[in-house]
Amino acid sequence: MRPYDLIRNKRDGLAHTADEIRSLVGAVTDGTMPDYQVAAWLMAAFLRGLNPDETLALTLAMRDSGDIVDWGDVEGVRLDKHSSGGVGDKATLVVVPLLAACGVPMLKMSGRGLGFSGGTVDKLESIPGFRTNLSIREARDQVRRIGAALLGQSPALDPADKKLYALRDVTATIESIPLIAASIMSKKLAGGANAVLLDVKVGRGAFMKTLEDARNLAETLVRIGNGSGVKTVAALTAMDEPLGYAVGNSVEVAEACRTLTGRGRVDERFRDLCLVLAARGLVLAGKATDDNSARTIAEKALAEGAGARKLAEIIEAQGGNPAIVADPDLLPLHTTVLRVRTEKEGFVESIDAEAVGTLAVDLGAGRQRKDDTIDPAVGIVLNRKTGDEVKAGDVLADIHVRDEKQPAAAVAADTLRSAYRIGSETQPRPIIYDFVTE
Ligand code: URA
Repeated sequence: MRPYDLIRNKRDGLAHTADEIRSLVGAVTDGTMPDYQVAAWLMAAFLRGLNPDETLALTLAMRDSGDIVDWGDVEGVRLDKHSSGGVGDKATLVVVPLLAACGVPMLKMSGRGLGFSGGTVDKLESIPGFRTNLSIREARDQVRRIGAALLGQSPALDPADKKLYALRDVTATIESIPLIAASIMSKKLAGGANAVLLDVKVGRGAFMKTLEDARNLAETLVRIGNGSGVKTVAALTAMDEPLGYAVGNSVEVAEACRTLTGRGRVDERFRDLCLVLAARGLVLAGKATDDNSARTIAEKALAEGAGARKLAEIIEAQGGNPAIVADPDLLPLHTTVLRVRTEKEGFVESIDAEAVGTLAVDLGAGRQRKDDTIDPAVGIVLNRKTGDEVKAGDVLADIHVRDEKQPAAAVAADTLRSAYRIGSETQPRPIIYDFVTE
């Protein structure tokens, strides 16, 4: 079928066959379908939606558009972990070493920051010398040697997603559940995993703002995974306020190290999230039969420092300085600090994660344009979180800036103060809402 007919059929609300979707993805990948037609099809798919069969067919065609990682002789369950993205989400830097320390091989490919939401690869690159551009062969050898590798998405995998994602980004077609689900799962499947642990974020600092949308996305992701023979579980987790205390790149790596070593200030909610995810990962990998026994194993690995030692091993294997794990002060961090105080009294009722994430990007921790360079030493460190009591004069946060005269820095303290809502109430805040398994 010609691209024109595919666009017209989708515009008119007709369903595509799997063969039609395969030919569309083929034409996107080899460039025979011009961008203007791909963009028109994306908008038609955004407005009309894709049914479950179409979504699965799109995912599999995207997976097959490039290489599929062969994990070679790495034995057992090949688990992958993925977060749908948020502000301050450094859970991968804790969960991957913890799971690897518990004997689950992890070849984890991650992305860069997107909009206000940070990316694991940018965070890792704040460790001086750390190489994220490992080849698949290098990553596989490293997994065989030390049990884990943390790397960027290989350009040879899922080229269809790269093209589709770039066009979605500029045609207002990102926020479509079938398109997001196909994009995420095609990359996971191309990564060669046979079990996937998904962390679907919900709230102001996430792509999915409501629990209903997040559940819908989680169910779509899980259906695709299980439908293609990959055991998939999704956690629905809170992303209204930033996760943990730190937002930025080196500051987030530092927080992950402190969480693993237990030295310094550790946010209990963030630690809990990491343990819940690690426990589910252990069950998926067949290392435990239920969440409770898995949690005991993960807690032991954390308490005994096995997770911290594993992170240091990974950093050393990939060219970085492993001493940053025990001493995160070795990481780059601007020493010019804007201290944000409150004049109010009461309780922190909320912290707008999107506003904090956007501020971090404006200060240089993320990209405004695709080819911007990241400043790893910029960071926001929250001192008060939702539910905390505050008195007039208390420090809400410190902002590490490159230069006080930078336009974004001039308004940064006010912007951050406005992201805090301080009132008279404090309410319980779950970090995990639910697990979706089918
Ligand atoms: N993350 C992805 O990988 N793809 C999307 O479409 C959205 C978030």
